[in-house]
Amino acid sequence: MVDLPQLTPTGNWGWFHELGHEAQRRPDKSWSWNNPYTFDGSIEVTVNLYSAHAFDQLGMRDRKGWTWTASSEAVEEKATTFLDKGKTYAEGNAGEKLAMHLQVRHAFGWDVYREVLPGYSKQQDDDPSQLPKSEQAERDAWLVRMSKATGHNLSSFYGEAWCIPLSPEAIKEVEDLPKWSSVESKD
Ligand SMILES: [Zn+2]
Repeated sequence: MVDLPQLTPTGNWGWFHELGHEAQRRPDKSWSWNNPYTFDGSIEVTVNLYSAHAFDQLGMRDRKGWTWTASSEAVEEKATTFLDKGKTYAEGNAGEKLAMHLQVRHAFGWDVYREVLPGYSKQQDDDPSQLPKSEQAERDAWLVRMSKATGHNLSSFYGEAWCIPLSPEAIKEVEDLPKWSSVESKD
């Protein structure tokens, strides 16, 4: 943190990660666990959206063990290798789960996350009753908010490819948007 000559040219995944936990906090609290976009045991996953974003903003590709996050091909390969084993999002490790989020990042850009993630904190100020309260409500809210932000129906991507349980009501809410799935887009 205090070694600027080291930090400036190379960045530091671990340090950006810890700062990420600060940014990842619950809208109504000062701690990071159990925020509305961190369902299915993903505290050490969504935090790394902040680390990857910091490296991308600085234009640094080399991230030691996390360099794969800089490349859409490497992200795709990590996701495919994991999903080919018949696993679900909830069964992934921190990197495998992050691959799902970065598939969306590489397809649609960081603006989607810049809109959706702060939206939860804004809602805490504006109308906290609209924040999802249960794990299922959090999964559903993620589908709906990310679909609206990308302008695409992501229900087959999240629900079928990554096997995140989604309610019929949430799927219905985005059904009129054009379907997108990273798998289909390669055909
Ligand atoms: Zn951590």
